[in-house]
Amino acid sequence: MKKLPQVLIVEDEPAIAELIAVNLRHNGFAPVWAEDGISAQREMDAALPDLILLDWMLPGGSSGLNLARKWRADARSKHVPILMLTARGDEPDKIAGLDAGADDYITKPFSTQELLARIRAVLRRRSPEQVGAQVQVGDLRLDPATYRVSFGEEQLKLGPTEFKLLSHLMHNPERVHSRSQLLDKVWGDHVFIEERTVDVHIKRLREALGGGASMVETVRGAGYRLTVGAA
Ligand code: CA
Repeated sequence: MKKLPQVLIVEDEPAIAELIAVNLRHNGFAPVWAEDGISAQREMDAALPDLILLDWMLPGGSSGLNLARKWRADARSKHVPILMLTARGDEPDKIAGLDAGADDYITKPFSTQELLARIRAVLRRRSPEQVGAQVQVGDLRLDPATYRVSFGEEQLKLGPTEFKLLSHLMHNPERVHSRSQLLDKVWGDHVFIEERTVDVHIKRLREALGGGASMVETVRGAGYRLTVGAA
């Protein structure tokens, strides 16, 4: 029998956690509930889930943001997809969550259908590029296994979102990507993020690329392209 996907629910409100757990169980997932950062870490140590549903606002010292950062920094857990649950509406928090390594977020209150669609999208999107082989475009090299990016001899430091963005561009070089295509492929199939968020991360990516910055081209009126043939 196929193993059910394990979902770790990190949520301090029992009523919400229970509702999510019931719906997940009903739809072919195996949920585990942790009510705070400490018990969440205990569950992570015991067995890595296939996906983490992480509440942004948790009591005590470990906010969802800190947990996401911690798990992303840990070699053992850095590839486990994280879907943030947030009650907040403002853009900086969402960008902070994605920067901390969350794969996507969903804003409370959400419907069961919306939650399931997000979970499936994150699980679907996660595999191919994340655990794939090393990819090289020009002097730029990216290794998903070690999370390393280099340009020539130079090792580069990229945030998680810039890494995902670059990975997608490198898997599809010389192709023009519109902002909405990048949102869909890198951030997820949802409408909550504004297109200018892409510009912010493209800017950060260029800064991180140093000598390779000019490989990320702006195609006026169309979007962005990664190219080896930059002037
Ligand atoms: Ca909460």
